[in-house]
Amino acid sequence: MLRSTEPDIIKTYLKDASNLAGGFAREIVFPENEDEVIQIMDEARRTNTPVTIAGNGTGVVGGRIPFGGVVLSTEKLGKLRNIQQTDQGSGYAITGPALTLKELQEAVSAKGLLYPPDPTEQNAFIGASVSTNASGARTFKYGATRRWVRRLKVVLSTGDILELRRGEYIADKENRLCLHGTRNIFELKLPHYRLPEGKHSAGYYVTPSMSALDLFIGSEGTLGVITEIEVELIPQPRKYFSGIVFFDCEENAWQLAHHARNISLINRASHVKGHIDASALEYFDSHAIEILRAAYPHIPQQACSAIFFEQEIIGNYENNLTEQWYQICQKHQVLIEESWFSKSSKEHTEFRTFRHAIPVLVNRILRQYSQTKIGTDFTVPQEHYFDLLNLYRQTLRNSGLRYCIFGHIADNHLHANILPHNNEEAEKGWQLYCAIARQIIAWGGSISAEHGVGKIRNDYLIEMYGQSGLKEMAIIKKTLDPCNIMGRGNIIPEEYLIE
Ligand SMILES: Cc1cc2nc3c(=O)[nH]c(=O)nc-3n(C[C@H](O)[C@H](O)[C@H](O)COP(=O)(O)OP(=O)(O)OC[C@H]3O[C@@H](n4cnc5c(N)ncnc54)[C@H](O)[C@@H]3O)c2cc1C
Repeated sequence: MLRSTEPDIIKTYLKDASNLAGGFAREIVFPENEDEVIQIMDEARRTNTPVTIAGNGTGVVGGRIPFGGVVLSTEKLGKLRNIQQTDQGSGYAITGPALTLKELQEAVSAKGLLYPPDPTEQNAFIGASVSTNASGARTFKYGATRRWVRRLKVVLSTGDILELRRGEYIADKENRLCLHGTRNIFELKLPHYRLPEGKHSAGYYVTPSMSALDLFIGSEGTLGVITEIEVELIPQPRKYFSGIVFFDCEENAWQLAHHARNISLINRASHVKGHIDASALEYFDSHAIEILRAAYPHIPQQACSAIFFEQEIIGNYENNLTEQWYQICQKHQVLIEESWFSKSSKEHTEFRTFRHAIPVLVNRILRQYSQTKIGTDFTVPQEHYFDLLNLYRQTLRNSGLRYCIFGHIADNHLHANILPHNNEEAEKGWQLYCAIARQIIAWGGSISAEHGVGKIRNDYLIEMYGQSGLKEMAIIKKTLDPCNIMGRGNIIPEEYLIE
């Protein structure tokens, strides 16, 4: 097994897209199979050495950044193992954790299949995206990663291997789970807290009668190393119609998204074909548009907000669907002549790249000023959709700080990114973040819809679930990781684990 204590190599594992500073580790290890992962775990337990699991470093909450001990890189733990098609045109893929989402999507697409979760960062590893329950633009139609995971293989710090299939190891009526590892049996009492409505990836997942596998999805490297993943696939849509439509005020974009979301949900529920059913609705505020102008100078001058929409084309409904999208655009005063509508799959891909460009540019600005990411990942229940939009704008507009707002508007899930130029501005930014987070929690929302808690959102998790919720999570962690060596600092603050 490759191991390295070279400072130059270690350095590359001390960062992710959060820009969280101060990480350190004494060694990086690169296991190539489960036996080697077990060997690392046995050593780490014996020497009480913390183990931080690293994916591909695109995380935005410092989850893979170590503060001591060893980094277990998953990059040699394997890629795609198998793609199977089923009779109904669907299928599944079995893979090691080091396959990037881009590689997965390309491999399944070659077989006419689609992996529906659509995190925009395609360089992320599938293992890590399960560990953060990543989601993306198409989550509006297809849900987050969790919905598509059928089976996981996990190595615990005790050296046990767990095989977890959806539908097996179900929580009983008292919310207990009993897991049989290769070395030990684990009796777990699941926490009592209730998850917020909607998209959510903050802390351990708990629902009545849940499969054990769901506890590990979104556990951010705190419970074990995910070494094999089986995901469900669907038939690839024949074609997409999409657009980047521009507005001369933000409110019209809010209204179009609201309208398109509602009719999509109604049409989807009634299974009517040939009517609007957006697979993605993504928002850009005036500040996001300004940032994007640097890379896309042909954005129309009068544009001060935009929506990216994506519609799957089924059967012979193309003209019909296109017409309906033009009508809804007209109703909400889209700058039709200046807007971009896809005429080919190449253009559709370019629009998706446009959507991805905004977080990339934001992260570049943060790096330029050496600042940690202050980006919200909040969701709220549907009744607070307009409240959320107004809250962001009112809080940030007069703050004197640089910021932009973009993202998954159909899921009431927007990323407000504050872009401080110095530490003083960063402090102010965190104060605003905190004030917004409190209101989100008061509305019954989530402090993290897709990025996770990592090492920078722990305080807000406590506000959300209270000390009792954190204590219940700590009991789970201490049962599965009795020496407390896995993913230290992620999700659960240390003081809850040393009691
Ligand atoms: C420009 C940009 C856009 C993004 N867009 C999205 C988006 O649309 N949706 C979204 O959800 N996220 C998005 N992200 C965040 C990021 O891509 C995801 O959080 C992703 O899941 C991280 O994958 P990674 O391989 O880079 O993992 P890393 O950053 O290396 O690790 C992430 C976490 O997973 C844990 N981990 C890694 N591998 C394993 C494993 N095998 N077993 C157990 N734990 C493990 C780590 O310990 C860490 O806590 C974006 C990031 C960037 C930079």
